[in-house]
Amino acid sequence: MNADRRKEIIATQKPEIPWASEPAMGSYYDEAEFEAVHREMVASNHPHIGFGSGNATVVEFEEKFAEYIGAPVCVVCNGAGTAQDMAMMALDLEPGDEVIVPAINFPACGLSAAGQGATVIWCEVDERTFQADPADIEARITKNTRCIYPVHMNGMAAPVDDYLELAEKYPHPKHGPLKVVGDTARSLGAGYRGQKVGSRAWMTTFSFHTMKNMTTLGEGGALITTDPSQEKRLRGFRQFGGEEWGSNYKMTNVQAAVGLCQLEKLEGMLESRRVIAYERNALLAGLEEITTPYEPEDTWHTYYLYTTLVPEDWAGEKRNRVMQLMDEEFGIPCVVANPPCYKSRPWLQKVTDTTKTPKADALGERIMCVPIHPLMSSSDNEYICAALWESVERVREE
Ligand SMILES: *Cc1c(COP(=O)(O)O)cnc(C)c1O
Repeated sequence: MNADRRKEIIATQKPEIPWASEPAMGSYYDEAEFEAVHREMVASNHPHIGFGSGNATVVEFEEKFAEYIGAPVCVVCNGAGTAQDMAMMALDLEPGDEVIVPAINFPACGLSAAGQGATVIWCEVDERTFQADPADIEARITKNTRCIYPVHMNGMAAPVDDYLELAEKYPHPKHGPLKVVGDTARSLGAGYRGQKVGSRAWMTTFSFHTMKNMTTLGEGGALITTDPSQEKRLRGFRQFGGEEWGSNYKMTNVQAAVGLCQLEKLEGMLESRRVIAYERNALLAGLEEITTPYEPEDTWHTYYLYTTLVPEDWAGEKRNRVMQLMDEEFGIPCVVANPPCYKSRPWLQKVTDTTKTPKADALGERIMCVPIHPLMSSSDNEYICAALWESVERVREE
């Protein structure tokens, strides 16, 4: 993008929507959702009906979601965090059991594992994909390892087959092959070797939080398992237990009704994200300091975030300066998603060893995510790219 063209775009194409770094509403509602909410409320408005438990709309949403992912069992709940707690409970952890979690991550994996008593072992991620690095995981497996717990980072699939291979290669002496649990909060709909993420691992968790690829009125989550023998326990965890402990992690049927509508248009929203990402890759081609997202052949990226990297000698200060210019000069805030998750959570610092992932510490200073949304226009995308060219060139000259 040459300087004249950039100046023209910046002067004439300022977005009407001030795009947030990670937009507060990651999908969109239309008449279908408005009608569904109304319909469910009216249907519940009777002394014998209410929102009920085990109601038909929730069950239908679970069935449709499991079918979409291509797995036998889905248990929906009130958030990804609680889905992750349930997955960790299902491991029946004992003191000293280790769970391997990538450090470049949202804090939820580490919190849910440590919350159930695991010793969290942080691992490094691949610098091109931001996914947990199988070779690094292998080096950290011990006789106490119970679970490999990757996040499918920023919209893309992590290499689950590699983790499953490790799980078989290093069985736990008492519990057999390691369990693979995937956090897919940011990557609903992502593809891996021709299948949806969630169809291979032992358990996979999803978020329907307001920012994510689809939402159920702001909060909501799902737990998918390929192991039907776990279904009864999971439903017990969700609703006040049975033979085991349980609490209330339920989703309402109004949320499930909205989820059914969102699921219908999910693929379209993901396609829109991909179109914007590819347009952007082309617009940023030639901007030397910005490494655009990498999408391996065997994955289908949903571009929940558009994750870029600055060069090593731009780590920290210069990256931050680019972000400052983007925000203050052009009104386009970017986000670092994520620095090593223990950095933002003192409790995780206290209960885990944060000294063994230096690559993650360094990588966290180079990541910069540029706003993306399924409703973003090509014009807005051009403006954002022109702003990034300008910001980077200015920092280059400073
Ligand atoms: C958003 C997010 C979560 C938590 O999702 P909730 O539904 O808000 O509990 C967990 N993991 C990752 C990677 C996330 O981005």
